[in-house]
Amino acid sequence: MNEQTIPYKIYLEEDEMPKYWYNLRADMKNKPAPLLNPATLKPMTFEDLQPVFCDELIEQELDDTTPYIEIPKEIRDFYKMYRPAPLVRAYNLERKLGTPAKIYYKFEGNNTSGSHKLNSAIAQAYYAKKQGLKGVTTETGAGQWGTALSMACAYLGLDCQVYMVKVSYEQKPFRREVMRTYGANVTPSPSLTTEVGKEILRKHPGTTGSLGCAISEAVEAATKQEGYRYVLGSVLNQVLLHQSVIGLETKTALDKYGIEPDIIIGCAGGGSNLGGLIGPFMREKLRGEKDYRIIAVEPASCPSLTRGKYAYDFCDTGMVTPLQKMYTLGSNFIPSANHAGGLRYHGMSSTLSQLYDDGYLEAVSVEQTGVFEAAKFFAQIEGTLPAPESSHAIRVAIDEALKCKETGEEKTIVFGLTGTGYFDMVAYEKFNNGEMSDYIPTDEELEASFAQLPVVPEA
Ligand SMILES: *Cc1c(COP(=O)(O)O)cnc(C)c1O
Repeated sequence: MNEQTIPYKIYLEEDEMPKYWYNLRADMKNKPAPLLNPATLKPMTFEDLQPVFCDELIEQELDDTTPYIEIPKEIRDFYKMYRPAPLVRAYNLERKLGTPAKIYYKFEGNNTSGSHKLNSAIAQAYYAKKQGLKGVTTETGAGQWGTALSMACAYLGLDCQVYMVKVSYEQKPFRREVMRTYGANVTPSPSLTTEVGKEILRKHPGTTGSLGCAISEAVEAATKQEGYRYVLGSVLNQVLLHQSVIGLETKTALDKYGIEPDIIIGCAGGGSNLGGLIGPFMREKLRGEKDYRIIAVEPASCPSLTRGKYAYDFCDTGMVTPLQKMYTLGSNFIPSANHAGGLRYHGMSSTLSQLYDDGYLEAVSVEQTGVFEAAKFFAQIEGTLPAPESSHAIRVAIDEALKCKETGEEKTIVFGLTGTGYFDMVAYEKFNNGEMSDYIPTDEELEASFAQLPVVPEA
């Protein structure tokens, strides 16, 4: 198709938006390993998971054979309030870099929560409501997930209890206030409202908390209250499933204009946006129909794919969750205090872990100063202030585009711009003041963390 006819921003028509989510696991020959019950080391059953998760979400979690799952009409109606998300051609960035590469980004920051997380929040809240529950509990780190869930719960009239990592609770008062405006109850974690929180505070008085610790508290809160379940914003199979709307829209938009990507790039925290973005492309790759380079980008200070172990581990610090086989740094791993770029989770989605282990996915780690340089450059050239998390993908997209400049290759690069950075100004401030440094964990530090991995005999 003639270059000139490709719009600056590609928006799908309403009737082109996905009506089904895509379940990537259905096309994988090597399925992700099952969740294990930590007490028995047997695969978690529906009944095992029932006290913690909503019924229909458990079915989605355990389903690795159904490729397409219908998106309920109520959820599609909610998606219409902020989707389709645009696929933007980064003409200005290309020009500024002087690259022959064509760069596109899928922008998920066009909603008040500011990120892709709303795609799964509304789905999880919907199934909780449908089951007749009173409310849900969750954790939030930087606050995007908590905000997204508060929005979804407000819309459906569900109670929303958020355990927010204490350091974020204190440093991001506006995030907290957005959640409260949407009606959520926000508790700084660790707190004295749960047994596991009390235990952590007893062992580590003065701790500013971690995501793993907030997860433990939220799970306990869900299981102790009648009519409540726990919901999680990343890592789980069900979240990747809901996030597949990102990739499905991207594929439809590219196909509409006959654009063939060569490289697809996404940042990877727990793996949900990347898993969602690459879904339909990975499908073709798994079926041997097409080939793409698919790159996961993670922080050098929290390098689960590039330096982690592929092993069973807990999903949280308090060791209350099932065991998941994944690339992990150990559930006790906490990135150094000067890490400001997000993506702090110690593990990775089991689906992405298996794809990476099978060689379908590449991974690179980048240092935060390079990430913020890319973020600032992008903000000035393309106008949008990116979230630090998203800027990991920007960094690598720029690096790949610069390689094309050297070789003269006209590659087409697609990356996920997962959100906006309005609430990340403390991190930007550090960077602007020249106070940001890079900390990369040593092998000894990682070994010490690996030594605490649970012992699970090979199946
Ligand atoms: C949460 C978040 C991420 C990382 O989470 P994934 O599950 O790996 O997608 C990336 N970008 C933004 C803006 C986020 O809020």
